[in-house]
Amino acid sequence: MDLFEYQGKQLFARFGIPVSPGAAVSSVDAAVEAADRLGYPVVVKAQVQVGGRGKAGGVKLANNTEEARTHASNILGMDIKGHVVRVLWIEKASDIEQEYYASFTLDRAAKQHLGMLSARGGVDIEQVAAEEPDAIARIHIDPVDGLPEDACREWVTRARLDPRATDGAVAILLSLYRAYTEGDADLVEINPLILTPEGNVHALDAKVSLDDNAAYRHPEWSEFGGQESLDRREQLAKERGLQYVGLDGTVGIIANGAGLAMSTCDVVNQVGGSPANFLDIGGGANADVMAGALEVINSDDNVQSIFINIFGGITRGEEVAKGIVQALERVELRAPIVIRLDGTNAEEGRAILKDHESDRLVSKPTMLEAARTAVELAGAGEAR
Ligand code: GDP
Ligand code: MN
Repeated sequence: MDLFEYQGKQLFARFGIPVSPGAAVSSVDAAVEAADRLGYPVVVKAQVQVGGRGKAGGVKLANNTEEARTHASNILGMDIKGHVVRVLWIEKASDIEQEYYASFTLDRAAKQHLGMLSARGGVDIEQVAAEEPDAIARIHIDPVDGLPEDACREWVTRARLDPRATDGAVAILLSLYRAYTEGDADLVEINPLILTPEGNVHALDAKVSLDDNAAYRHPEWSEFGGQESLDRREQLAKERGLQYVGLDGTVGIIANGAGLAMSTCDVVNQVGGSPANFLDIGGGANADVMAGALEVINSDDNVQSIFINIFGGITRGEEVAKGIVQALERVELRAPIVIRLDGTNAEEGRAILKDHESDRLVSKPTMLEAARTAVELAGAGEAR
């Protein structure tokens, strides 16, 4: 889950990172009121989950009420790279002497965290990264060891920030590392991290991406929620804890295991069909999970046939078959089902399905045959 700048700053503040006071608002009047209260100059900032807002005209300095009103009305509703601005962050303006760049993310190849720090921050950091990679000081951090203060200080020295910024930068980077690890983020980025004429170091922007897999241990994340653009099917799937990705084809797919689900999509394509979704129900294919999966698929108006592809491993075939049969009693399906059941105790499973077979429920012994049948049925459904 990606956060808006103002939410990222809320998170930073919780970890002791200095940020400017401000207010999130969604109307011009509220923006002006907040600006008057904060005192001028203020910065009016578009809240969209995409970078380059400054260059797109979504970040403006206002010196008085009138300018605050003008900027707020111009920026609200603005389209920035396909993101419509619905919320503004009004922030007390800072004086900037230097702009730095700082971030932590995961370096999967190195199996370590990666910190990046540059004295050349601001709106052109991508260009700096491409043209002068040496202008970015990197540090790899073993997650077990963490980031000790002396290593952090050495890293800051390598980045050649203004010496006046060293202590402030070290303190912020140590806090930012905590926000990244304890906060369960995939990415934290401050650009610009500024040095003020008074010699203070301060976060002027915030980019945070949280690791959705850690959501269960962060009930406080619910306050950030409601901003993901999930479609209705994906929302239903999320509520049921299913690994689902909506696609635009006509064959609904249910498989156990992400690899099998992907192969199932491939095979459906290979025989001339198009998958309506990717859905991995994981290891246990009991009636509850299966019913939940079928409900999600059933909510998709494009689905003309459903292909259930299960390879029994630890989960035995007869349990899967019972789960499917029970789920079918609970969910009234619009589309016919084709089942391929293989693996542990597949024979026993197929025997259970046999009693329920009809033109609405077909069992096929191989993945390819099942895919062909599902695609044929989907075609027949479309022609209807
Ligand atoms: P981005 O373009 O989406 O990355 O938005 P930022 O929040 O990073 O703002 C873009 C640029 O606006 C910054 O690099 C600064 O140069 C400038 N800016 C933002 N806030 C302030 C501020 O409080 N004072 C001043 N003088 N400039 C600011
Ligand atoms: Mn920025």
